[in-house]
Amino acid sequence: MIEIVRIPALSDNYIWLAHEPDSGETVVIDPAESEPVLAAAAERGWTITQIWNTHWHPDHVGGNAAIKAATGCTITGPAAEQDRIATLDDMVRDGDSVALGALRAEVIDVPAHTSGHIAYHLAEASVVFVGDTLFAMGCGRLFEGTPEQMFANMQRLSALPGETKVYCAHEYTQSNGRYALVAEPDNVEIKQRMVEVDAMRARGEATVPTTIALERATNPFMRARTAAELAERRAAKDSFRG
Ligand code: ZN
Ligand code: FE
Repeated sequence: MIEIVRIPALSDNYIWLAHEPDSGETVVIDPAESEPVLAAAAERGWTITQIWNTHWHPDHVGGNAAIKAATGCTITGPAAEQDRIATLDDMVRDGDSVALGALRAEVIDVPAHTSGHIAYHLAEASVVFVGDTLFAMGCGRLFEGTPEQMFANMQRLSALPGETKVYCAHEYTQSNGRYALVAEPDNVEIKQRMVEVDAMRARGEATVPTTIALERATNPFMRARTAAELAERRAAKDSFRG
């Protein structure tokens, strides 16, 4: 129904390439850069037809112009950040849907990391692209928003079906997990997960995608009971040296 390829980029970014075979459409989510994306598509004989951006940060839009120049693809991104993403064609906001062949992605507003940050939820494929809002055992830094907003984002993402695969834009899992062990010292599932994560990282493997169910069990930000608790945890993580 949908094939998703992970493309590591820069120091710890993941660019996602998603192919819908019936229509032949291929979308790139958050291209930090262009070359590895064009190479990955060419290797598979896929033609990139779309780019979806979650927010304006350069490590998420840096490849937009070159990929568009090479492929003529359409670029979709947050209406609220249109002034900060020069290459956008389609501006979307909460509740809009974006087509990928016969599949539809629903746009979910998740402001806080940046003021217009959005996520793309493909319900039929049980997939959500969350950019820098939700990470494995972590959440994005609050550069342009409040703990209350991020708390609402976590509640909203947590309400998606547990089997939903979560495609984050960075490999931050090990560092997040070290903090999660401190935030919830009695959480056995975090301890078990960290054993697996440490082994995967030692083998050089990626720990993303994750799932909503796994984050509900092990993510101290999604598990925060109040916005104040999330704020406390976010501040502690910002200065955490584990
Ligand atoms: Zn970012
Ligand atoms: Fe980023």
